Amino acid sequence: MHPLAKLDHQFIWHPFTQMRDWLKREPVVIVAGKGSVLHDTHGREYLDANSSIWTNLHGHNHPKINTAIERQLKKVAHSSALGLANEPVSLLAKQLIHAANAGIHVSRFTFHESCAKPPRKSQIANRKLEKVFFSDDGSTALEVALKLAYEFTRRTRSAGSRPASRRRIEPRILSLEGAYHGDTVGAVSLGHIDLFHKSYSGLLFKTDKVMSPYCYRCPFNRAKPERADAREYRQCNWECVGLVEKKFASQKQKGNPCAAFVFEPLIQGAAGMIPQPEGWLRRVADIARGHGALLIADEVMTGFGRVGQASSLPPFSKIRDRLEACPTLFACHREGVQPDFLCLAKGLTGGYLPMAATLTTQKVFDAFLGEYGKFKTFFHGHSYTANQRGAAAALASLEILQGRQSIHARQKLEKNLHDELQLLWPLPNVGDIRQVGLIAGIELVRDWRTRKPFDLRERAGIRVCEAMAKRGVLTRPVGNVIVLMPPYCTTPAQARKMVRAVFDSIREVFDRRSL
Ligand code: PMP
Repeated sequence: MHPLAKLDHQFIWHPFTQMRDWLKREPVVIVAGKGSVLHDTHGREYLDANSSIWTNLHGHNHPKINTAIERQLKKVAHSSALGLANEPVSLLAKQLIHAANAGIHVSRFTFHESCAKPPRKSQIANRKLEKVFFSDDGSTALEVALKLAYEFTRRTRSAGSRPASRRRIEPRILSLEGAYHGDTVGAVSLGHIDLFHKSYSGLLFKTDKVMSPYCYRCPFNRAKPERADAREYRQCNWECVGLVEKKFASQKQKGNPCAAFVFEPLIQGAAGMIPQPEGWLRRVADIARGHGALLIADEVMTGFGRVGQASSLPPFSKIRDRLEACPTLFACHREGVQPDFLCLAKGLTGGYLPMAATLTTQKVFDAFLGEYGKFKTFFHGHSYTANQRGAAAALASLEILQGRQSIHARQKLEKNLHDELQLLWPLPNVGDIRQVGLIAGIELVRDWRTRKPFDLRERAGIRVCEAMAKRGVLTRPVGNVIVLMPPYCTTPAQARKMVRAVFDSIREVFDRRSL
């Protein structure tokens, strides 16, 4: 065993990992990376098929991001936003606000399309994102949104009410079934994955959950399994949207309407790469708004071009035309939704450094203004907030993202991935293949005709990923779902190798049992 692997075994406790299994074999120790390729201590090469846990955008060792960080290092590495401003983070905040509002006219457009009544001008103005609160990772980006939404609601709803009733207002937060928003206690409270969250229920505050549109396993989908993405052949009457409406209505009836609705737009990641059918988000966002709830969009995974370009929308649709004229980096804009809180992390720095941002509106910001002695301050912050190196990397990453070359590469990779994935449909253990832009989830089942799932104890996803690693392709499953989420610089040959590794590994793992 390599000495570094020995050190790992001796001292390191890995996240989301059964360490008894981990200690049975030599781990892959990464020493270098270039583009979509990672190198280990033994000189082996691997394709980074999940972009290092969904963080990397443009590939490893990107010369522009390297240079930006090196330049910043020569000035100062870190001075914190607690009490100080700094150059790269001010520039970054401006860029993020610009990018986050670039989709706003798309939002106006779809609201006109989808609602009987067009929104009032004031509503639109309130939706402009104007302020950025920096933190460290996806979980903290959500914590910030959660605390701000909670306190904003308390303050605004209690304004004008009598002091006795003020004490009673406990804002309720709604999130989706299968939700995962991080591992800090607030983020875990928003989560609804029993395997991860149930043990800690005593530590958590209560949130409500509502059905998410998991078409492949939806009890309302009357369609028999087909060899296609379940969203395409589903037969339903949008019952899932009806349940969202019902949930908001019943909470209102209890006299305490939902304060905020938290969601991952277009696709839920850790829930199992569960994509939403077109129109779902627009509908539920309208419902939430109609009930006065704030929208918290968790774009930790989906942000920064990950959900692809408008090219994946139906041709000749008006929203596609709009998006092509003004490409947005964020998933919620694809459905014409502008949230009150936009939570960003992972790809913010191109996958280089831990940094996160929570964007919000002027209205929320204003609710925290006042004389010092009124103590309306947002008492929250992390030591490394607004780190200069992270901001420098993020600025470089945004510049690459918005360039023609990257836009074109993303379009091409999205199509390549789609074409390559067709190879997997003939496999009986592939139940569903779900692609949203540059994210693909392949759900493994006992038999596609029955959709019967594997018991998690069988480690079906883990075994397939282990077999893929032997073929030089690295990814991690979410349960029984194999994830492919390559860096944007992945070449057609590399995309082919990734999918081929899934194919061969599924055959290796299941051949004897079910073919
Ligand atoms: N939200 C989403 C959608 C995520 O996928 C994740 C991480 N996988 C998080 C939040 C938490 O991010 P982090 O691990 O950076 O805390």
